[in-house]
Amino acid sequence: MPDLRRKRLVLLATGGTIAGAQSETQAGRYTAGSLNADDLIAAVPGLAALADLSCEQVASVGSQNMTHAVWALLAARTTALLADPDIDGVVITHGTDTLEETAYFLSLALPWSKPVVLVGAMRPATAMSADGPANLYQAVALAATEIVARFGPVVLMNDEIHAAQGVQKMASSGVAAFASPNGARLGVVAGVQPIWAPHVAPALDAAFTPTAARFDVRQHPAHTWPRVEIVYSHADAQGDAVDEAAVRSQGIVLAGVGGGYATDALMAGMARAVARGVVVVRATRTGSGFVARNIEVDDDAMGFVAAGWLNPAKARILLMLCLLAGHPPQFIQDAFLRA
Ligand code: ASP
Repeated sequence: MPDLRRKRLVLLATGGTIAGAQSETQAGRYTAGSLNADDLIAAVPGLAALADLSCEQVASVGSQNMTHAVWALLAARTTALLADPDIDGVVITHGTDTLEETAYFLSLALPWSKPVVLVGAMRPATAMSADGPANLYQAVALAATEIVARFGPVVLMNDEIHAAQGVQKMASSGVAAFASPNGARLGVVAGVQPIWAPHVAPALDAAFTPTAARFDVRQHPAHTWPRVEIVYSHADAQGDAVDEAAVRSQGIVLAGVGGGYATDALMAGMARAVARGVVVVRATRTGSGFVARNIEVDDDAMGFVAAGWLNPAKARILLMLCLLAGHPPQFIQDAFLRA
């Protein structure tokens, strides 16, 4: 029997352009995270008709300043809300710059039990034709559906619903900045109605069993999370950047050219990092595509992990959580190939 009672949702606000206010004196300038959660809700007439919505301010940052400490707060608070029988779902407002990272982190750190929808905006709240109100309206409508819970935390931007694992900010401007470059969006929202893409039909038809968090970080304060750095590959790249990163990190992600490659010098630096006990993951800087094992690099001999479908920013998160959980490299490789 579907649950027909009015949904009770909680909005967790973290800042971002969706809460940004334009400068009154300098055209084009704005400050992300200036408005609070109540202001956001007040700007969207009709929200009250969709659900009972309460709000909490978790942070007020431009998401370029997102931190592990805020992630830890979000994971703890959202987990508690999802466990509350009086709460049906959570909407998280967030800046767009690291929206995909927070969504992916939460997809690993939260149980998949009730709707969690992350939403942002490309234009500040005070802009002409701000996109935030429409995005927030649709995010609340989506979180009020039970069915979205089976996809874990999702991202709603510009009418589109994206899975946390695949979504990516693809452009620095424009309201259509988000896509899932390795697959397809999960669906769109038409008005308040989710319209699911054909490829998700099997998931919609399957019985839904809530699952526990893959990585429960709540017992681990953010300052204890392992340090993982990203090293960017380019023509004539030298190995010293990796050597420096290896001194202070437990993990390194290569944002490699092509299928996760780098100059011989950079590869030699990565081999030295592995010899020090640092876990090295090869990802691609290209923006899409799969990084496979043992194609142009002998990963078996070098001790590298291939990132599979994850972009460098998301590979950093999965590696950090695997290291936090104490997983050995073989387990880590399996985790990437299944991500
Ligand atoms: N710098 C802003 C942020 O990520 C951009 C945005 O939200 O669109 O918070």
